[in-house]
Amino acid sequence: MYSGVIEGVGPRYCPSIEDKIVKFSNKNHHQIFLEPEGIATDEIYVNGFSTCLPFEVQVDLVKTIIGCEYAEIMRPAYAVEYDFAFPTQLHASLETKTCRNLFLAGQINGTSGYEEAAAQGIMSGINAARRVQGKEPVILRRDQAYIGVLIDDLVTKGTVEPYRMFTSRAEYRLLLRQDNADLRLSTIGAEIGLLPPHNHKKFLAKQRAIQTELHRLQTTRHGADTLEQILRRPEVSYSKLPHADRSLDAEVTQQVEIMVKYSGYIERQETEVHRFKSMEDKQIPGWIDYETVPSLRTEARQKLAKIRPATLGQAARISGISPADVSLLMVCMKRGPQSTTAQCAAAEHLDEPAESAGCCGDL
Ligand SMILES: Cc1cc2nc3c(=O)[nH]c(=O)nc-3n(C[C@H](O)[C@H](O)[C@H](O)COP(=O)(O)OP(=O)(O)OC[C@H]3O[C@@H](n4cnc5c(N)ncnc54)[C@H](O)[C@@H]3O)c2cc1C
Repeated sequence: MYSGVIEGVGPRYCPSIEDKIVKFSNKNHHQIFLEPEGIATDEIYVNGFSTCLPFEVQVDLVKTIIGCEYAEIMRPAYAVEYDFAFPTQLHASLETKTCRNLFLAGQINGTSGYEEAAAQGIMSGINAARRVQGKEPVILRRDQAYIGVLIDDLVTKGTVEPYRMFTSRAEYRLLLRQDNADLRLSTIGAEIGLLPPHNHKKFLAKQRAIQTELHRLQTTRHGADTLEQILRRPEVSYSKLPHADRSLDAEVTQQVEIMVKYSGYIERQETEVHRFKSMEDKQIPGWIDYETVPSLRTEARQKLAKIRPATLGQAARISGISPADVSLLMVCMKRGPQSTTAQCAAAEHLDEPAESAGCCGDL
């Protein structure tokens, strides 16, 4: 890679040893794990030492590792380089925009990683099956699942290097918790026939128990406070709560405790989601021709035409698209397909398009 023979961008999060030496040249040591490959072999995998340097160099390199002075290389290390399809050419269902009925998932969409591939694989599979059944695609939102964040990032922003999913990529991290994954996704799973009925029944019972207990805590007093107010105190856990219901399942009490203790933060985030959803629900009609929205900047025009976002929310997330651009789109959408170039041109004269056109307002 450093000689320029390979032009591809390496995976940022699994750098090779030569990459580490260049990028972290201020470090004076690097930990390497010698991993036995199995019980029936003497082979050792040198973890943390991936490389695409020439074989002769690898031979010398390995001998510099303390304890490996006499090591023999059984198979040289190598790098892989692969092509990918630009994920901005996909709908959020992972169907390609140009070829109906063709769904893509995984590394071909520019991602790297097992979970990234699996997450797209399940959605692509679901949506291909639903197409065959003549049903609408399943699209998870950014506030519903990390899968939603992953796919929205890919199809909206594209990627210039192997894409990895991180919790930090999600703006609604408080909602996307591991403890509430069933609460977020079971109903969808049941609706599309992926959650077996007995699991769904169990889920509904849990959901009911949580609601009932939350209601009991809100309406039962202990002294001057309700049980909910007492549970909100940092030093009080559910098990220490007066009148705690000891018959409840641990999963139920854990959820009740989280919902009560963090309700302020969770509600704030839910308000943000709600505000954002009004944009997300505004479908951009097929008749919009970005060439004829006169006041759009060239960059916005090009990016919108290239990505063809499905909703105003998706348009707003494209890098380089400003709130003002979104407002201009809203103006044209509001005026309808009959709106002429001249009518839309009126928007050009808005002093502060983002505010005056009410970026988040109703159409
Ligand atoms: C050495 C190495 C180490 C890695 N380590 C990790 C790690 O520790 N953690 C992690 O999360 N990720 C890791 N990755 C990345 C991860 O393995 C991949 O990103 C992921 O497996 C990609 O899955 P995929 O299903 O998109 O593609 P693949 O797993 O490549 O699957 C594509 C499949 O399509 C088949 N195929 C290709 N062409 C055709 C054809 N014409 N007809 C039929 N079938 C075809 C291929 O044989 C293959 O089985 C590693 C990758 C490598 C190379």
